[in-house]
Amino acid sequence: SSQDHGDGSSSERHDGLPKRGVSNTVVGVLGGGQLGRMLCQAASQMAVKVVILDPLESCPASGLAYQHVVGSFDDGDAVREFAKRCGVLTVEIEHVDAITLEKLELQGIDCQPKASTIRIIQDKYLQKVHFSQQGIPLPDFMEIDNLANTEKAGELFGYPLMIKSKRLAYDGRGNAVAYTKEELPSVVAALGGFDHGLYVERWTPFVKELSVIVARARDNSVSCFPVVETIHKNNICHIVESPADVPDKIKKLAVDIAQKAVKSLEGAGVFAVELFLTKDGQVLLNEVAPRPHNSGHHTIESCYTSQYEQHLRAILGLPLGDPSMKTPAAIMYNILGEDEGEAGFHLAHQLMGKALKIPGANIHWYDKPEMRKLRKMGHITIVGPSKNVVKERLDSLLERETPGSH
Ligand code: ATP
Ligand code: MG
Ligand code: MG
Repeated sequence: SSQDHGDGSSSERHDGLPKRGVSNTVVGVLGGGQLGRMLCQAASQMAVKVVILDPLESCPASGLAYQHVVGSFDDGDAVREFAKRCGVLTVEIEHVDAITLEKLELQGIDCQPKASTIRIIQDKYLQKVHFSQQGIPLPDFMEIDNLANTEKAGELFGYPLMIKSKRLAYDGRGNAVAYTKEELPSVVAALGGFDHGLYVERWTPFVKELSVIVARARDNSVSCFPVVETIHKNNICHIVESPADVPDKIKKLAVDIAQKAVKSLEGAGVFAVELFLTKDGQVLLNEVAPRPHNSGHHTIESCYTSQYEQHLRAILGLPLGDPSMKTPAAIMYNILGEDEGEAGFHLAHQLMGKALKIPGANIHWYDKPEMRKLRKMGHITIVGPSKNVVKERLDSLLERETPGSH
């Protein structure tokens, strides 16, 4: 229901109200986890209305959203019903019903990024096929569906061999490593068997992992956040350093690959491009997320425009903001569950108590109702005058010596 507001513009959608604030468009977000929560925080500053669809009554975004519809983002009927209240539909998780989104697009529902992008990315094998067709450098990979071709892959790529689930992967759940040919059957079984949809990747002995967040506006203009280094613990993003401590030549290569990857996908929004840096200076693509990302949490405090505001600007058709850093250095530490239940809550509470006394430290607690080991419960971003200072402040928070500082 597009309307003319008498000022010559008919760009506002679905509400029929006169313009107020920066946009009247209601943003619908599939998923209400911590990324959805931080989208709501960015939206509230500009009084943009965000409605979320998430099955969990007490999901992290629930208390901050304009409305929370309790329902499943991978259920076609729920997504169709939800779309009726939204001017634009976006995601904070890629494991949504992409087929329904494609049908909704044909009926004129505005999805950003496009359903085709979600469909390609949510299947990590399809994603790899797509990017290799675009000439983007990435580790060798191969589909597997029986023991014979898995053994063949082992011969081709050598060991250790990385085996991955095609779908529903996050935080390394869905990945497993086989160190020998003999281990293949048990590793495949641990991932749910061949029926689950598996593929293999050549092991990449990277020296660093990098990430670039690329924003694309509706007019197709593109803007990149600084290249960061991501440090994983048990396959889970744990620490992010911004800017990455790599030569300019590597930064340029990382940004070029990230932009090329994002340009091959359709729609507006922010996209995170996860990369491997090898010791001979090659940059390979690991995977892309079609949404705000853990490697961009630091932008809330360290950049002129955060990745969350940038995503909203992009999907709402507003000009992109300035992604450059307004502080010389930032380090982000994920608060991962260290224990189940109350014991875990107690440890996290203690850590945050210490962080409150550290200069430049900013605490984010996602308010998840349940504590589990290795679950992302919150994060702390420390900003400061130099890379060494923010590292020392993190080390003092974690009570450890800064390597090389004495
Ligand atoms: P996310 O939470 O980022 O979506 P995911 O479950 O999709 O994670 P991946 O990004 O595929 O998992 O892998 C998680 C981590 O495992 C990577 O960040 C990297 O540290 C390691 N890893 C993945 N693929 C390889 C590989 N081919 N060789 C070596 N290490 C790898
Ligand atoms: Mg992933
Ligand atoms: Mg990943």
